[in-house]
Amino acid sequence: MNVLVINAGSSSLKYQLIDLTTQEVHAKGNCERIGIEGSFITHSEHGGETERTPAPFPTHRDASEYVLDLITGLGLSIDGIGHRVVQGGWYFPKSVVVDDEVLAKVREVAPLAPLHNYVEADVVDAMRAAMPEVGNVVVCDTSFHYSMPETSWRYALPRDVCDRLHIRKYGAHGTSHRYIWRATNEFTHGETHKLISLHLGSGSSLCAIEDGKSMDTTMGLTPLDGLIMGTRTGTVDPATVFYLERVGGYTVDEVDTMMNKQSGLLALSGISSDTRDIEAGAEKGDENCIIALEMFGYRTAQLTLEMAQAMEGFDTMAFSAGIGENSPLCREKICERLAWQGVRIDKEKNAVRSGEVRDITGEGSSVRVLVVPTNEELMIAYDVQELLG
Ligand code: AMP
Repeated sequence: MNVLVINAGSSSLKYQLIDLTTQEVHAKGNCERIGIEGSFITHSEHGGETERTPAPFPTHRDASEYVLDLITGLGLSIDGIGHRVVQGGWYFPKSVVVDDEVLAKVREVAPLAPLHNYVEADVVDAMRAAMPEVGNVVVCDTSFHYSMPETSWRYALPRDVCDRLHIRKYGAHGTSHRYIWRATNEFTHGETHKLISLHLGSGSSLCAIEDGKSMDTTMGLTPLDGLIMGTRTGTVDPATVFYLERVGGYTVDEVDTMMNKQSGLLALSGISSDTRDIEAGAEKGDENCIIALEMFGYRTAQLTLEMAQAMEGFDTMAFSAGIGENSPLCREKICERLAWQGVRIDKEKNAVRSGEVRDITGEGSSVRVLVVPTNEELMIAYDVQELLG
């Protein structure tokens, strides 16, 4: 079965055509700068070289039609289409096959993720129009966290306000955390029961997963909450917002931009949101880079234990995403701070680079520590197979 997986971001559209029988990726690419001057596409086929071609993408619809032309040109069947949707709101505890009602709901909850849901719905629309005979499935990043107990998802705000405005913890990265659980469980032959999944990338979140169920997660109503991220603050005292507006004279939009795009590791290091640059800066003795890495390690360790409380313990930690998979230094900094809990990693194993699931647990460790490359696209494709296969 060949599944086309589409991941539409605010100004990008990533895609993969995956053969689920062999797990081969027949083609993949990314349309970038959609709606911005200088838009282009990067595309590769059968693991070959990536070609970059300028292409006009005034809208996500244009980009998706362009992608469909490329993919149909391969002469392979498309047996189902899976769409990543960032926010499922209060509607989607599971992935679903798209009909008009589903699409209306994706748009209805869009005020919770306005940069994503509207364009994602447009792309689903375009695919349905272009290939009416092929089924579409939406896979929401929030669905996995539906299993959280009320003690995790409810906010201590007035009930009527929460009910009217649907305010609660939704979490994010659910598709990734679900994949990380699946891959971890496979690797440990079912020995994992209480997993801390650490999705550490340009956006980062932790998830407490007990026997496959999300019990708590660090992102909240929006993906701004929790860990220190590339350009996002993570958790700060909410009153900081009022103070910035009342005393600092910033508008709501300016605070939004500051907290989402100008904060996090970028603000701390003063040079970059990319941990590769920050690690290089720290190596040269840059004090701001050193504190940025220390704070990242401290906050991640701190929230790891917050997640552990949701399960009253943990037996496995799984590092994933750009930083979690590729930065031995960040893994070491996080685990060092958890040494008092008995967490140990093996220095040599931690230094190994590979695309495989690997065990980096040190001798005498209280928990198993793994590196688990995430694969949200494959998870989405599995859902399509389950619902349409
Ligand atoms: P993601 O959002 O999962 O694609 O992660 C992207 C981030 O991963 C980048 O912004 C970097 O901060 C980080 N990253 C990627 N490769 C490395 C590496 N080799 N060492 C340290 N950090 C890395």
